[in-house]
Amino acid sequence: MQLHFLISSEQRASGAMFMETLNETVLAFIYPTDGTRTFHTFFCPPMRIVALSADGQVLFDELIVKWKWVRLPVCRYVIETGPKVDYRPFIQSVLSIAPDLPQLGAIDPNTRMDGLVFALLAEAVADIRRIRDAHRGEVRPDIQRRKFEAWERGQIVSSAGFILDFSRTWSLPNGAVKLSYSVLKAEEPYLDEIVAASVAGIPWRHEFPNHCMRCGKPASWRPILNPAPNAPVEILWRYQRPENAIPICHHCTETLNLLRDESLQIDLVWGLWGPRFEALWQWHHALKNKRLPNHWDLYLQPLWPHEYGGGTWETGSGAIHLAEPRPPRDVLRSEQHMQALRRALYSKLFRGRQPGEAPLQKLLDFGFDIPQGESQ
Ligand SMILES: [Zn+2]
Repeated sequence: MQLHFLISSEQRASGAMFMETLNETVLAFIYPTDGTRTFHTFFCPPMRIVALSADGQVLFDELIVKWKWVRLPVCRYVIETGPKVDYRPFIQSVLSIAPDLPQLGAIDPNTRMDGLVFALLAEAVADIRRIRDAHRGEVRPDIQRRKFEAWERGQIVSSAGFILDFSRTWSLPNGAVKLSYSVLKAEEPYLDEIVAASVAGIPWRHEFPNHCMRCGKPASWRPILNPAPNAPVEILWRYQRPENAIPICHHCTETLNLLRDESLQIDLVWGLWGPRFEALWQWHHALKNKRLPNHWDLYLQPLWPHEYGGGTWETGSGAIHLAEPRPPRDVLRSEQHMQALRRALYSKLFRGRQPGEAPLQKLLDFGFDIPQGESQ
């Protein structure tokens, strides 16, 4: 039987991960202070997790068979061991040796580094499981292209890359490594677009307000520019971007005769999104005319080539750090944009009471506010 002390945050982050079995091994996680701790058992064999107070009281003792997150009570030491091992004889050693060990792990175990690695691994494993379930054996590109959205495929290849990176230094389950290779091979021709989509092509409609920009009644976001019929599925996500959509209800769609009035559609989406729609529009036309710049780096500029927009989100940048879907607040609108909006919204009389600009203003003011304390 072997007792190992895990002191540094790196040691603690890996723990029993990638061990075939813990057998007789007893892993003791030593922390300098008390705290609630979240453990995970991804990539770990079945194990017993025990949480101890500073004076050796057992606060938690559970057998964990499945891969999952385990929330521990406030504790000082944590022991991981094989399911059948009696850990109690080791408590005294842990208590007596711990204070003499170098206190390398001054960082709290719930810090970002540990949390990030665990979260990524958890996601990577879940993704690779989905691949296994979808393909049952060899990864076939046609199934991959039919079954998953571009942004999901981007996340899957990121996970595959992550698992392969890990497999250089850790012994990972063979199946996961094999699947990761074959996913990357199958997706090779589409990598640029789907990796861009994994950041910029994620769904957003459920988080955005869905009030009609004209009357304020419940509405849905309607895309304006349409892809060519033969467009590859990997690029369709750009037409699903918020910059190509307006929230408008059925009633106003009818009243404005919107479906048959293309210039009205453009006025609405152009006015709402200003330079961000202009950038998307340039991409749309360059694609149609096969004039996209050769030097376009989709990893840095996933939305559109940098010359189509300004340097900031407000002025139409498509850079990676600004690529997540956001509502139209703070878009830099000129007087032309505002005129286009008003021209389109107020071109027809409202039935009954004129709602004025309140619904539009509400939409323009909507933003995702990061709660205080979560911004660092
Ligand atoms: Zn309406």
